Amino acid sequence: DRQKHIRNFSIIAHIDHGKSTLADRILEMTDTIAKRDMQAQVLDDMELERERGITIKLNAVELHYQAQDGETYIFHLIDTPGHVDFSYEVSRSLAACEGALLVVDAAQGVEAQTLANVYLAIDDDLEIVPVINKIDLPSAQPDVVKAEIEEMIGLDASEAVLASAKSGIGIEEILEKLVTDVPAPTGDLKAPLKALIFDSIYDSYRGVVLNVRVFDGMVKVGDKIRLMNNGKEFEVTEVGVMSPKAVKRDFLMVGDVGYITASIKTIQDTRVGDTVTLADNPAAKALDGYRHIQPMVYSGMYPVDNAKFNDLREALEKLQLNDAALEFEPESSQALGFGFRCGFLGLLHMDVVQERLEREFNLDLIMTAPSVDYHVDLTDGTEVVIDNPSEMPETSNISEVKEPYVKASIMVPNDYVGAVMELAQRKRGEFVTMDYLDTYRVNVIYNMPLSEIIFDFFDDLKSNTKGYASFDYEVTGYRPSDLVKMDILLNGESVDALSFIVHRDFAFERGKAIVSKLKETIPRQQFEVPIQAAIGNKVIARSTVKAFRKNVLAKCYGGDITRKRKLLEKQKAGKKRMKSVGSVEVPQEAFMSILKMN
Ligand code: GDP
Ligand code: MG
Repeated sequence: DRQKHIRNFSIIAHIDHGKSTLADRILEMTDTIAKRDMQAQVLDDMELERERGITIKLNAVELHYQAQDGETYIFHLIDTPGHVDFSYEVSRSLAACEGALLVVDAAQGVEAQTLANVYLAIDDDLEIVPVINKIDLPSAQPDVVKAEIEEMIGLDASEAVLASAKSGIGIEEILEKLVTDVPAPTGDLKAPLKALIFDSIYDSYRGVVLNVRVFDGMVKVGDKIRLMNNGKEFEVTEVGVMSPKAVKRDFLMVGDVGYITASIKTIQDTRVGDTVTLADNPAAKALDGYRHIQPMVYSGMYPVDNAKFNDLREALEKLQLNDAALEFEPESSQALGFGFRCGFLGLLHMDVVQERLEREFNLDLIMTAPSVDYHVDLTDGTEVVIDNPSEMPETSNISEVKEPYVKASIMVPNDYVGAVMELAQRKRGEFVTMDYLDTYRVNVIYNMPLSEIIFDFFDDLKSNTKGYASFDYEVTGYRPSDLVKMDILLNGESVDALSFIVHRDFAFERGKAIVSKLKETIPRQQFEVPIQAAIGNKVIARSTVKAFRKNVLAKCYGGDITRKRKLLEKQKAGKKRMKSVGSVEVPQEAFMSILKMN
C-alpha cells in the first residue's frame, strides 16, 4: 500500500558541501523539474538565498521515484541550511523524517557543522545515509573522508555513496539507498489525525499555511481541524504538497509531508511544533513538538519612520510564522522612539531578519548595537537579566555581572593551531583540550565568552586560518566577569541605543575605536558634532565630526543634469537607514560600529 512506499528524508551537511546541488540532481533525476526549468540550487527560492548563495529556510518537496524493484516510491525531501545560525531549521526538519542524507565534501572532510547536524539526526534516531560528494574534484580524498566519518561520527562508511552532485555521479545509487535503507513511516492511518507543524508561512490570500508531517490518520478539505496547543478550530480549505510548486491534493495521510490551509487569519493561533488533530475525532495526546530555542543575541529594531511602529509589529508577527527562532517584544529608546527588542540566534540571523523585513514588508529599519544577555546580581540580593545595555543598573547597585560562556570547538589543520590559540586567547578564551582528528587535523576546544564569539570571531578565524577552520559552539552557562557599561555621547547627549557592555581590560581600546569609527560613519551636519565615549562620568575617548562646508550640488555647478540627479539619488539611498537622534542624523552603520572595532 501507499504508506510502505513513502520515504521521508532531510539532506544535512556543513555549509557548502553540496546539499542544495544534490537536491537539484534528485529533482532532475525524478523528473520533478523539467531540465529547461532547472536552475542551480533551485530550492533556494528566496531572493536573499539566491543573492547570498546560502540556504536560509528548510524546503520540503514531494517527488516520485521509479525504483529498480519496479515500484514507484513517494519521496519527501527536505533541504536544510548548514550555517550554525539556522540549525533550528535543521532540527525541525529532522523531526519530520525517518532518514537523513549526510553529505560530506570529499575534499574538505568532516567539518564542525557536519558533526553538529549529524548528532541532531542521531538524537532523532534517523537512519543516516552517508554520501561523499564532490568526488569530481582533483583534491577529493574519499578514503580519508570515509575514515573520518567512521572515526569521528562512528558511522559505518564502507557503503557510503561516492557522488558528484555537480556532474550527476552516484545520484541513482543514493535514491536506491533511500528506498532500501530508510524505513517507511510507521503510524496508523485509522488512528485520529496527528500532524506536526514543522514550519508555516503567512499568505495574504489564504492566511496561515501550515507545513505538516502527518504521523497518524488523514486530513482532507472540509475537515474541521483543531490546534492542540490552544484548542482553536478551523475548517480546512486546501491540502497539498510542494513539488516544488504547490500542488493541491484531496487528502494528506499518515507519512505525508505537505501543507494545510484553513483560513487562519489570527497569526498568534499557530505555533511551530504544535499538533493538528480533527475536532470530531481528536487525538488523546499531542506530539512531542520542539524544545524552546533561546536567542543568543539581542538588538533593538526601530522603524526609521516612527509612524510605522504598528506596521513593524505586524511584519514581525508574520515573519515569526516563517522564522520560529525569532523573538521580539516592544521596547522604547530615548534616542529612537518606539520599537522592538528582538532575539536572534546570531548575527547572520539578525541580518537576514532585517533584510527580510525590509524586502518582504517594505519597511526601513534601524537596528541598534547587538548585545548578549547578562545576569546581574544586585546588592539587595536580587538578580536581573539584561539584554539591553542601556538598562544596566547603576554600578553602585551591582554586586556582580555574569555573561554567557560557550564551549567552542574549532577544527583546523595542525599548521594553524598556533594561530587559532593566539586568536582564542585574545578573545578571553580559556583552553580546554586539543584532540587529533586524524594525522593532520585537530579539534581545539576553548571556553569563551559568547560576546567575543558573536562579534567577530568567525571572520578573524577565517582570515587567520586561510579559511581552513570550521567551528561550532554551545552555550554552557554564565560566569562572572569584570564588565562595564560604555556610554556614547553625541553632541553632549548620551545615546541609549549606542551604549554597550565591555570587559574592563578592553574598555579603553574599544572606546577609542568606536569613537573613531563613529567619526567615519556619521555624516557632517550643519554644526559640529562632538563624539565621546564614557564610563560613568569619566570620558575615555573623544572626537568631532566637523560641520558641513559646502552643498553637495555645488560640486556639479555647470555640470550636466543627469550627474546632478544621480548624486541626489545616491544621497537619497544613503538616507534610507538614517535616524535623527536629538539633532544629529545617525546612519545604520553607526549602530553597528561595535562590530567593526578591530
Ligand atoms: P550547500 O551549502 O550544502 O547547500 O551547498 P551548495 O549546493 O550550495 O553547493 C556549494 C558549492 O559547491 C556550489 O558552488 C556548488 O556548485 C558546488 N558543488 C556542489 N556539489 C559539487 C560537486 O559534486 N562537485 C563540485 N566540484 N562542486 C560542487
Ligand atoms: Mg544549501
